[in-house]
Amino acid sequence: MRFRLTLWYSLVLAVTLLAVEGGIYFFLRRSLEESARQTVVERGEKVAQATVSGPLGPRGEFAVLLPRMDVFTSPDLFIQAVDAFGAVVARSENLGRSSLPLTKGTKAAIRSGKAAMERITVNGEELFLYSRPMFPDVEGTGVIQVALSLKRQNEFLSRLRLLFLAGFLLAVLSASGLGAFLARQALLPIKRMTETAREIGMSGDLRRRVEYRGPQDELGELASTFNEMLSRLEAAHRRLESTLEGQKRFVADASHELRNPLAAIRLNLLSLLNRLHPRLEPEERELLASLTREAERLSRLVADLLTLARADAGLGLDLSPLDLHEVAREALEQSRILGEGLEMELLSSPGKWVLGNRDYLKQFLLILLDNAIKYTPRGGRVEVEVESGNGEVVVGVRDTGPGIPPEERERIFERFYRREEARPKPGAGLGLAIARWIADQHGGRLELESWPGQGSLFRLRLKALPVPAEARAS
Ligand code: ADP
Repeated sequence: MRFRLTLWYSLVLAVTLLAVEGGIYFFLRRSLEESARQTVVERGEKVAQATVSGPLGPRGEFAVLLPRMDVFTSPDLFIQAVDAFGAVVARSENLGRSSLPLTKGTKAAIRSGKAAMERITVNGEELFLYSRPMFPDVEGTGVIQVALSLKRQNEFLSRLRLLFLAGFLLAVLSASGLGAFLARQALLPIKRMTETAREIGMSGDLRRRVEYRGPQDELGELASTFNEMLSRLEAAHRRLESTLEGQKRFVADASHELRNPLAAIRLNLLSLLNRLHPRLEPEERELLASLTREAERLSRLVADLLTLARADAGLGLDLSPLDLHEVAREALEQSRILGEGLEMELLSSPGKWVLGNRDYLKQFLLILLDNAIKYTPRGGRVEVEVESGNGEVVVGVRDTGPGIPPEERERIFERFYRREEARPKPGAGLGLAIARWIADQHGGRLELESWPGQGSLFRLRLKALPVPAEARAS
Protein backbone atom coordinates (compact mmCIF):
# COMPACT_ATOMS: atom_id res chain seq x y z
CA MET A 1 0.00 0.00 0.00
CA ARG A 2 2.88 2.35 0.89
CA PHE A 3 4.50 1.59 -2.41
CA ARG A 4 1.27 2.12 -4.32
CA LEU A 5 0.56 5.43 -2.58
CA THR A 6 4.05 6.72 -3.37
CA LEU A 7 3.82 5.49 -6.93
CA TRP A 8 0.52 7.21 -7.58
CA TYR A 9 1.65 10.37 -5.90
CA SER A 10 4.86 10.51 -7.97
CA LEU A 11 3.00 9.64 -11.16
CA VAL A 12 0.50 12.45 -10.71
CA LEU A 13 3.30 14.88 -9.93
CA ALA A 14 5.35 13.75 -12.95
CA VAL A 15 2.41 14.10 -15.32
CA THR A 16 1.52 17.57 -13.97
CA LEU A 17 5.13 18.77 -14.15
CA LEU A 18 5.52 17.40 -17.66
CA ALA A 19 2.39 19.18 -18.81
CA VAL A 20 3.39 22.52 -17.25
CA GLU A 21 7.02 22.39 -18.41
CA GLY A 22 6.05 21.19 -21.88
CA GLY A 23 3.48 23.97 -22.17
CA ILE A 24 5.96 26.66 -21.17
CA TYR A 25 8.62 25.28 -23.51
CA PHE A 26 6.42 25.13 -26.61
CA PHE A 27 4.89 28.52 -25.90
CA LEU A 28 8.37 30.10 -25.60
CA ARG A 29 9.62 28.40 -28.75
CA ARG A 30 6.67 29.65 -30.76
CA SER A 31 7.05 33.22 -29.47
CA LEU A 32 10.78 33.25 -30.26
CA GLU A 33 10.17 31.94 -33.75
CA GLU A 34 7.43 34.47 -34.32
CA SER A 35 9.60 37.36 -33.26
CA ALA A 36 12.49 36.08 -35.49
CA ARG A 37 10.10 35.94 -38.44
CA GLN A 38 8.93 39.46 -37.74
CA THR A 39 12.51 40.72 -37.55
CA VAL A 40 13.50 39.35 -40.96
CA VAL A 41 10.29 40.59 -42.58
CA GLU A 42 10.73 44.08 -41.13
CA ARG A 43 14.36 44.29 -42.22
CA GLY A 44 13.49 43.14 -45.73
CA GLU A 45 10.81 45.81 -45.82
CA LYS A 46 13.21 48.50 -44.75
CA VAL A 47 15.83 47.52 -47.34
CA ALA A 48 13.15 47.48 -50.04
CA GLN A 49 11.94 50.91 -49.00
CA ALA A 50 15.47 52.29 -49.24
CA THR A 51 15.92 50.85 -52.73
CA VAL A 52 15.28 53.32 -55.50
CA SER A 53 14.91 52.80 -59.25
CA GLY A 54 14.40 55.02 -62.25
CA PRO A 55 16.38 56.80 -64.99
CA LEU A 56 19.36 57.06 -62.69
CA GLY A 57 22.08 55.88 -65.13
CA PRO A 58 24.82 58.25 -66.23
CA ARG A 59 22.97 58.72 -69.49
CA GLY A 60 19.57 58.72 -68.00
CA GLU A 61 18.97 55.02 -68.49
CA PHE A 62 16.93 52.94 -66.05
CA ALA A 63 18.93 51.81 -63.02
CA VAL A 64 18.41 50.44 -59.51
CA LEU A 65 20.17 52.04 -56.57
CA LEU A 66 20.64 49.79 -53.54
CA PRO A 67 21.22 51.23 -50.09
CA ARG A 68 24.25 50.29 -47.97
CA MET A 69 23.40 46.91 -46.58
CA ASP A 70 25.35 47.32 -43.33
CA VAL A 71 23.00 50.00 -42.15
CA PHE A 72 20.36 47.30 -41.66
CA THR A 73 22.36 44.44 -40.24
CA SER A 74 23.05 43.31 -36.72
CA PRO A 75 25.47 40.54 -35.57
CA ASP A 76 23.08 37.68 -36.36
CA LEU A 77 21.37 39.22 -39.32
CA PHE A 78 22.73 39.01 -42.87
CA ILE A 79 21.47 40.80 -45.97
CA GLN A 80 22.20 40.19 -49.60
CA ALA A 81 20.73 41.38 -52.90
CA VAL A 82 20.67 39.27 -56.05
CA ASP A 83 19.62 40.26 -59.53
CA ALA A 84 17.09 38.53 -61.68
CA PHE A 85 19.74 35.99 -62.80
CA GLY A 86 20.66 35.08 -59.26
CA ALA A 87 23.99 36.93 -59.26
CA VAL A 88 24.86 38.63 -55.97
CA VAL A 89 24.90 42.36 -56.47
CA ALA A 90 25.34 43.53 -52.89
CA ARG A 91 25.93 41.93 -49.50
CA SER A 92 26.38 43.04 -45.93
CA GLU A 93 29.89 43.04 -44.59
CA ASN A 94 29.26 40.47 -41.89
CA LEU A 95 28.83 37.90 -44.66
CA GLY A 96 32.51 38.34 -45.54
CA ARG A 97 33.29 36.51 -48.75
CA SER A 98 30.52 34.01 -48.43
CA SER A 99 27.04 34.53 -49.69
CA LEU A 100 23.56 33.34 -48.79
CA PRO A 101 22.40 30.36 -50.86
CA LEU A 102 20.00 30.73 -53.73
CA THR A 103 17.20 28.59 -52.43
CA LYS A 104 14.00 27.37 -54.00
CA GLY A 105 12.19 30.18 -52.21
CA THR A 106 14.55 32.80 -53.60
CA LYS A 107 14.12 31.50 -57.12
CA ALA A 108 10.35 31.43 -56.70
CA ALA A 109 10.44 35.03 -55.43
CA ILE A 110 12.40 36.10 -58.55
CA ARG A 111 9.93 34.32 -60.78
CA SER A 112 6.68 35.30 -59.16
CA GLY A 113 7.46 38.57 -57.44
CA LYS A 114 6.07 37.10 -54.18
CA ALA A 115 8.05 36.99 -50.88
CA ALA A 116 9.09 33.60 -49.45
CA MET A 117 10.08 32.50 -45.91
CA GLU A 118 12.24 29.41 -45.36
CA ARG A 119 14.03 27.69 -42.55
CA ILE A 120 17.38 26.43 -43.86
CA THR A 121 20.59 24.97 -42.49
CA VAL A 122 23.96 26.27 -43.65
CA ASN A 123 27.14 24.73 -42.23
CA GLY A 124 25.17 23.19 -39.41
CA GLU A 125 23.63 26.51 -38.45
CA GLU A 126 19.92 27.10 -38.66
CA LEU A 127 18.66 30.28 -40.37
CA PHE A 128 15.40 31.96 -41.25
CA LEU A 129 15.76 33.08 -44.84
CA TYR A 130 13.37 35.71 -46.13
CA SER A 131 13.48 36.40 -49.87
CA ARG A 132 11.66 39.51 -50.95
CA PRO A 133 11.43 40.93 -54.50
CA MET A 134 12.95 44.40 -54.79
CA PHE A 135 9.75 45.55 -56.44
CA PRO A 136 6.72 43.64 -55.23
CA ASP A 137 4.42 41.99 -57.74
CA VAL A 138 6.88 42.51 -60.55
CA GLU A 139 7.96 39.18 -62.00
CA GLY A 140 11.60 38.58 -62.80
CA THR A 141 13.08 41.33 -60.64
CA GLY A 142 15.99 41.11 -58.22
CA VAL A 143 15.49 39.84 -54.74
CA ILE A 144 16.59 41.05 -51.31
CA GLN A 145 17.54 38.15 -49.01
CA VAL A 146 17.48 38.62 -45.26
CA ALA A 147 18.79 35.77 -43.05
CA LEU A 148 18.61 35.56 -39.29
CA SER A 149 20.71 32.97 -37.45
CA LEU A 150 18.71 30.91 -34.96
CA LYS A 151 21.87 29.81 -33.14
CA ARG A 152 21.34 31.86 -30.01
CA GLN A 153 17.68 31.07 -29.88
CA ASN A 154 18.40 27.34 -30.22
CA GLU A 155 21.08 27.50 -27.56
CA PHE A 156 18.64 29.18 -25.22
CA LEU A 157 16.02 26.52 -25.93
CA SER A 158 18.41 23.62 -25.35
CA ARG A 159 19.56 25.16 -22.05
CA LEU A 160 15.92 25.52 -21.08
CA ARG A 161 15.28 21.85 -21.95
CA LEU A 162 18.19 20.80 -19.76
CA LEU A 163 16.99 22.97 -16.93
CA PHE A 164 13.48 21.61 -17.18
CA LEU A 165 14.73 18.01 -17.26
CA ALA A 166 16.92 18.56 -14.18
CA GLY A 167 14.05 20.30 -12.39
CA PHE A 168 11.69 17.50 -13.35
CA LEU A 169 14.00 14.74 -12.09
CA LEU A 170 14.79 16.59 -8.89
CA ALA A 171 11.14 17.33 -8.17
CA VAL A 172 9.95 13.78 -8.90
CA LEU A 173 12.76 12.10 -6.94
CA SER A 174 12.50 14.31 -3.89
CA ALA A 175 8.70 14.18 -3.96
CA SER A 176 8.66 10.38 -4.19
CA GLY A 177 11.21 10.17 -1.34
CA LEU A 178 9.14 12.50 0.77
CA GLY A 179 5.96 10.73 -0.30
CA ALA A 180 7.37 7.34 0.72
CA PHE A 181 8.40 8.75 4.09
CA LEU A 182 5.01 10.36 4.69
CA ALA A 183 3.14 7.22 3.61
CA ARG A 184 5.30 5.18 5.98
CA GLN A 185 4.58 7.54 8.84
CA ALA A 186 0.87 7.52 8.08
CA LEU A 187 0.69 3.73 7.81
CA LEU A 188 2.91 2.98 10.79
CA PRO A 189 -0.01 2.64 13.23
CA ILE A 190 -1.71 0.19 10.84
CA LYS A 191 1.49 -1.82 10.63
CA ARG A 192 1.71 -1.94 14.42
CA MET A 193 -1.93 -2.96 14.69
CA THR A 194 -1.42 -5.74 12.14
CA GLU A 195 1.59 -7.03 14.06
CA THR A 196 -0.34 -7.05 17.33
CA ALA A 197 -3.28 -8.77 15.69
CA ARG A 198 -0.94 -11.42 14.26
CA GLU A 199 0.71 -11.96 17.63
CA ILE A 200 -2.68 -12.28 19.31
CA GLY A 201 -3.71 -14.77 16.61
CA MET A 202 -0.60 -16.84 17.22
CA SER A 203 -0.44 -16.73 21.01
CA GLY A 204 -4.22 -16.76 21.55
CA ASP A 205 -3.65 -14.15 24.27
CA LEU A 206 -6.84 -12.11 24.14
CA ARG A 207 -5.75 -9.86 26.99
CA ARG A 208 -3.45 -7.92 24.70
CA ARG A 209 -4.50 -4.61 23.12
CA VAL A 210 -3.37 -2.60 20.15
CA GLU A 211 -1.28 0.39 21.17
CA TYR A 212 -2.16 3.66 19.50
CA ARG A 213 -0.88 7.08 20.38
CA GLY A 214 -2.22 9.81 18.18
CA PRO A 215 -5.29 11.79 17.25
CA GLN A 216 -8.74 10.20 17.17
CA ASP A 217 -8.86 10.22 13.37
CA GLU A 218 -9.79 7.28 11.14
CA LEU A 219 -6.79 5.31 12.41
CA GLY A 220 -7.55 6.12 16.03
CA GLU A 221 -11.08 4.93 15.46
CA LEU A 222 -9.85 1.72 13.84
CA ALA A 223 -7.56 1.06 16.81
CA SER A 224 -10.31 1.63 19.39
CA THR A 225 -12.82 -0.45 17.41
CA PHE A 226 -10.29 -3.24 17.19
CA ASN A 227 -9.59 -3.03 20.92
CA GLU A 228 -13.30 -3.00 21.76
CA MET A 229 -13.75 -6.10 19.63
CA LEU A 230 -10.88 -7.76 21.48
CA SER A 231 -12.48 -6.89 24.83
CA ARG A 232 -15.77 -8.42 23.77
CA LEU A 233 -13.98 -11.50 22.44
CA GLU A 234 -12.04 -11.83 25.66
CA ALA A 235 -15.20 -11.57 27.76
CA ALA A 236 -16.98 -14.13 25.58
CA HIS A 237 -13.98 -16.42 25.74
CA ARG A 238 -13.86 -16.12 29.55
CA ARG A 239 -17.54 -16.98 29.83
CA LEU A 240 -17.10 -19.95 27.53
CA GLU A 241 -14.05 -21.13 29.42
CA SER A 242 -15.73 -20.93 32.78
CA THR A 243 -18.81 -22.74 31.43
CA LEU A 244 -16.60 -25.44 29.95
CA GLU A 245 -14.56 -25.63 33.10
CA GLY A 246 -17.75 -26.04 35.10
CA GLN A 247 -19.00 -28.76 32.80
CA LYS A 248 -15.73 -30.66 32.94
CA ARG A 249 -15.67 -30.42 36.70
CA PHE A 250 -19.26 -31.58 36.81
CA VAL A 251 -18.52 -34.63 34.66
CA ALA A 252 -15.44 -35.44 36.72
CA ASP A 253 -17.28 -35.01 40.02
CA ALA A 254 -20.34 -36.90 38.85
CA SER A 255 -18.29 -39.82 37.53
CA HIS A 256 -16.26 -39.88 40.69
CA GLU A 257 -19.34 -39.84 42.88
CA LEU A 258 -21.08 -42.49 40.78
CA ARG A 259 -18.17 -44.88 40.72
CA ASN A 260 -18.39 -46.27 44.25
CA PRO A 261 -22.16 -46.70 44.51
CA LEU A 262 -22.16 -48.36 41.09
CA ALA A 263 -19.42 -50.75 42.14
CA ALA A 264 -21.39 -51.54 45.28
CA ILE A 265 -24.57 -52.19 43.28
CA ARG A 266 -22.70 -54.48 40.90
CA LEU A 267 -21.07 -56.47 43.70
CA ASN A 268 -24.32 -56.76 45.64
CA LEU A 269 -26.16 -57.90 42.56
CA LEU A 270 -23.47 -60.48 41.89
CA SER A 271 -23.56 -61.88 45.42
CA LEU A 272 -27.37 -61.85 45.37
CA LEU A 273 -27.31 -63.76 42.13
CA ASN A 274 -24.85 -66.29 43.54
CA ARG A 275 -26.72 -66.76 46.77
CA LEU A 276 -30.21 -67.05 45.36
CA HIS A 277 -29.21 -68.86 42.21
CA PRO A 278 -30.61 -72.34 43.07
CA ARG A 279 -33.89 -70.96 44.38
CA LEU A 280 -34.70 -68.64 41.48
CA GLU A 281 -37.06 -69.19 38.61
CA PRO A 282 -35.26 -69.05 35.22
CA GLU A 283 -36.87 -65.66 34.32
CA GLU A 284 -35.84 -64.21 37.70
CA ARG A 285 -32.33 -65.49 37.17
CA GLU A 286 -32.17 -63.93 33.74
CA LEU A 287 -33.53 -60.65 35.11
CA LEU A 288 -30.87 -60.50 37.83
CA ALA A 289 -28.10 -61.44 35.35
CA SER A 290 -29.24 -58.72 32.98
CA LEU A 291 -29.28 -56.20 35.86
CA THR A 292 -25.72 -57.24 36.72
CA ARG A 293 -24.62 -56.75 33.09
CA GLU A 294 -26.23 -53.30 32.98
CA ALA A 295 -24.52 -52.32 36.23
CA GLU A 296 -21.27 -53.56 34.72
CA ARG A 297 -21.82 -51.47 31.61
CA LEU A 298 -22.63 -48.39 33.67
CA SER A 299 -19.47 -48.87 35.76
CA ARG A 300 -17.39 -49.06 32.59
CA LEU A 301 -19.06 -45.98 31.12
CA VAL A 302 -18.48 -44.02 34.30
CA ALA A 303 -14.83 -45.11 34.41
CA ASP A 304 -14.39 -44.03 30.78
CA LEU A 305 -16.02 -40.66 31.46
CA LEU A 306 -13.72 -40.13 34.42
CA THR A 307 -10.66 -40.89 32.28
CA LEU A 308 -11.78 -38.41 29.63
CA ALA A 309 -12.58 -35.77 32.26
CA ARG A 310 -9.04 -36.19 33.53
CA ALA A 311 -7.74 -35.91 29.97
CA ASP A 312 -9.69 -32.66 29.50
CA ALA A 313 -8.33 -31.28 32.73
CA GLY A 314 -4.89 -31.55 31.09
CA LEU A 315 -3.70 -34.14 33.56
CA GLY A 316 -0.38 -35.61 32.49
CA LEU A 317 0.62 -39.22 33.04
CA ASP A 318 3.56 -40.38 35.11
CA LEU A 319 5.86 -42.28 32.81
CA SER A 320 8.53 -44.79 33.75
CA PRO A 321 10.52 -47.45 31.86
CA LEU A 322 8.54 -50.66 31.30
CA ASP A 323 8.59 -53.73 29.10
CA LEU A 324 5.70 -53.44 26.67
CA HIS A 325 5.84 -57.20 26.10
CA GLU A 326 4.77 -57.75 29.71
CA VAL A 327 1.89 -55.28 29.43
CA ALA A 328 0.73 -56.88 26.17
CA ARG A 329 0.88 -60.36 27.73
CA GLU A 330 -1.19 -59.32 30.76
CA ALA A 331 -3.77 -57.52 28.62
CA LEU A 332 -4.17 -60.51 26.33
CA GLU A 333 -4.52 -62.92 29.26
CA GLN A 334 -7.19 -60.70 30.77
CA SER A 335 -9.10 -60.51 27.49
CA ARG A 336 -8.99 -64.22 26.78
CA ILE A 337 -12.13 -64.90 28.86
CA LEU A 338 -14.11 -62.58 26.59
CA GLY A 339 -12.67 -63.99 23.38
CA GLU A 340 -14.49 -67.26 23.41
CA GLY A 341 -14.60 -68.87 19.99
CA LEU A 342 -11.71 -66.73 18.72
CA GLU A 343 -8.13 -67.66 18.10
CA MET A 344 -6.02 -65.32 20.20
CA GLU A 345 -2.28 -65.06 19.98
CA LEU A 346 0.60 -62.97 21.33
CA LEU A 347 3.43 -62.38 18.86
CA SER A 348 6.10 -60.89 21.07
CA SER A 349 9.17 -61.59 23.08
CA PRO A 350 10.49 -59.87 26.23
CA GLY A 351 12.76 -56.85 26.05
CA LYS A 352 10.53 -54.24 24.41
CA TRP A 353 11.32 -51.35 26.72
CA VAL A 354 9.64 -47.99 26.46
CA LEU A 355 8.84 -45.00 28.64
CA GLY A 356 5.19 -45.37 29.60
CA ASN A 357 2.44 -45.58 32.17
CA ARG A 358 1.72 -49.26 32.87
CA ASP A 359 -1.94 -48.86 33.88
CA TYR A 360 -2.87 -46.61 31.01
CA LEU A 361 -0.97 -48.66 28.39
CA LYS A 362 -2.81 -51.72 29.65
CA GLN A 363 -6.12 -49.87 29.43
CA PHE A 364 -5.11 -48.86 25.90
CA LEU A 365 -4.54 -52.47 24.86
CA LEU A 366 -7.67 -53.66 26.65
CA ILE A 367 -9.74 -51.13 24.67
CA LEU A 368 -8.28 -52.32 21.37
CA LEU A 369 -8.63 -56.00 22.33
CA ASP A 370 -12.17 -55.43 23.55
CA ASN A 371 -13.09 -53.92 20.16
CA ALA A 372 -11.29 -56.63 18.20
CA ILE A 373 -13.13 -59.33 20.15
CA LYS A 374 -16.46 -57.50 20.01
CA TYR A 375 -16.48 -56.93 16.27
CA THR A 376 -14.73 -60.07 14.99
CA PRO A 377 -17.12 -62.94 14.24
CA ARG A 378 -16.59 -66.30 15.98
CA GLY A 379 -13.88 -68.40 14.39
CA GLY A 380 -11.84 -65.31 13.62
CA ARG A 381 -8.40 -64.43 14.86
CA VAL A 382 -7.02 -61.68 17.12
CA GLU A 383 -3.31 -60.99 17.48
CA VAL A 384 -1.27 -58.74 19.68
CA GLU A 385 2.11 -58.04 18.21
CA VAL A 386 5.04 -56.16 19.77
CA GLU A 387 8.00 -55.45 17.49
CA SER A 388 11.14 -53.39 17.82
CA GLY A 389 13.58 -51.91 15.33
CA ASN A 390 14.87 -48.57 14.06
CA GLY A 391 14.84 -47.21 17.60
CA GLU A 392 11.11 -47.86 17.89
CA VAL A 393 8.76 -50.27 19.62
CA VAL A 394 5.53 -50.87 17.74
CA VAL A 395 2.58 -52.51 19.41
CA GLY A 396 -0.34 -53.58 17.24
CA VAL A 397 -3.70 -55.29 17.66
CA ARG A 398 -4.83 -57.09 14.55
CA ASP A 399 -8.15 -58.79 13.88
CA THR A 400 -9.93 -60.57 11.05
CA GLY A 401 -13.16 -58.65 11.64
CA PRO A 402 -15.32 -56.61 9.25
CA GLY A 403 -12.83 -53.75 8.85
CA ILE A 404 -13.65 -50.05 8.74
CA PRO A 405 -14.44 -48.18 5.49
CA PRO A 406 -11.98 -45.39 4.62
CA GLU A 407 -14.50 -42.55 5.06
CA GLU A 408 -15.06 -43.55 8.71
CA ARG A 409 -11.45 -44.09 9.75
CA GLU A 410 -11.15 -40.63 11.32
CA ARG A 411 -14.63 -40.41 12.80
CA ILE A 412 -14.41 -43.58 14.88
CA PHE A 413 -11.90 -41.77 17.13
CA GLU A 414 -14.49 -39.14 18.04
CA ARG A 415 -16.22 -39.32 21.41
CA PHE A 416 -19.53 -41.18 21.39
CA TYR A 417 -19.22 -42.03 17.73
CA ARG A 418 -20.32 -45.58 16.92
CA ARG A 419 -20.75 -47.07 13.48
CA GLU A 420 -24.23 -48.14 12.49
CA GLU A 421 -23.11 -51.80 12.38
CA ALA A 422 -21.78 -51.61 15.94
CA ARG A 423 -25.07 -50.53 17.52
CA PRO A 424 -26.26 -54.03 18.58
CA LYS A 425 -22.96 -54.59 20.45
CA PRO A 426 -22.41 -53.09 23.89
CA GLY A 427 -20.36 -49.88 24.09
CA ALA A 428 -20.70 -46.13 24.31
CA GLY A 429 -18.26 -45.00 21.59
CA LEU A 430 -15.66 -43.73 24.05
CA GLY A 431 -13.01 -46.47 23.78
CA LEU A 432 -11.02 -45.21 20.81
CA ALA A 433 -11.18 -41.58 22.03
CA ILE A 434 -9.52 -42.73 25.26
CA ALA A 435 -7.03 -44.91 23.37
CA ARG A 436 -6.00 -41.96 21.23
CA TRP A 437 -5.55 -39.75 24.27
CA ILE A 438 -3.36 -42.38 25.94
CA ALA A 439 -1.30 -42.68 22.74
CA ASP A 440 -0.87 -38.87 22.62
CA GLN A 441 0.19 -38.83 26.27
CA HIS A 442 2.98 -41.23 25.35
CA GLY A 443 4.18 -39.00 22.52
CA GLY A 444 2.96 -41.53 19.97
CA ARG A 445 0.11 -41.69 17.53
CA LEU A 446 -2.58 -44.28 17.17
CA GLU A 447 -2.57 -45.43 13.55
CA LEU A 448 -5.17 -47.48 11.80
CA GLU A 449 -4.94 -49.71 8.78
CA SER A 450 -8.01 -51.55 7.69
CA TRP A 451 -9.10 -53.84 4.89
CA PRO A 452 -12.91 -53.89 4.66
CA GLY A 453 -14.19 -57.44 4.93
CA GLN A 454 -10.81 -58.74 6.03
CA GLY A 455 -9.82 -57.03 9.23
CA SER A 456 -8.15 -54.09 10.94
CA LEU A 457 -4.81 -53.26 12.50
CA PHE A 458 -4.45 -50.60 15.20
CA ARG A 459 -0.86 -49.63 15.90
CA LEU A 460 1.07 -47.42 18.28
CA ARG A 461 4.70 -46.43 17.70
CA LEU A 462 6.82 -45.49 20.70
CA LYS A 463 10.45 -44.55 21.08
CA ALA A 464 12.48 -47.56 22.22
CA LEU A 465 14.49 -47.45 25.44
CA PRO A 466 17.67 -49.48 25.91
CA VAL A 467 17.01 -52.65 27.91
CA PRO A 468 17.94 -51.87 31.57
CA ALA A 469 20.93 -53.75 33.03
CA GLU A 470 18.90 -55.57 35.76
CA ALA A 471 16.39 -56.81 33.14
CA ARG A 472 19.24 -58.12 31.02
CA ALA A 473 20.76 -59.96 34.00
CA SER A 474 17.49 -61.75 34.80
P1 ADP B 1 -17.42 -48.67 20.93
O1 ADP B 1 -16.61 -49.87 20.65
O2 ADP B 1 -17.84 -48.55 22.34
O3 ADP B 1 -18.55 -48.48 19.97
P2 ADP B 1 -15.03 -47.25 20.19
O4 ADP B 1 -14.66 -45.83 20.32
O5 ADP B 1 -14.13 -48.23 20.81
O6 ADP B 1 -16.52 -47.38 20.70
O7 ADP B 1 -15.14 -47.57 18.64
C1 ADP B 1 -15.84 -46.73 17.77
C2 ADP B 1 -16.40 -47.49 16.58
O8 ADP B 1 -15.32 -47.94 15.77
C3 ADP B 1 -17.15 -48.70 16.91
O9 ADP B 1 -18.50 -48.38 17.15
C4 ADP B 1 -16.96 -49.60 15.73
O10 ADP B 1 -17.96 -49.31 14.77
C5 ADP B 1 -15.64 -49.19 15.19
N1 ADP B 1 -14.54 -50.14 15.53
C6 ADP B 1 -13.67 -50.04 16.54
N2 ADP B 1 -12.79 -51.07 16.54
C7 ADP B 1 -13.13 -51.85 15.50
C8 ADP B 1 -12.61 -53.09 14.95
N3 ADP B 1 -11.57 -53.72 15.52
N4 ADP B 1 -13.21 -53.61 13.87
C9 ADP B 1 -14.27 -52.98 13.30
N5 ADP B 1 -14.82 -51.82 13.76
C10 ADP B 1 -14.26 -51.27 14.84
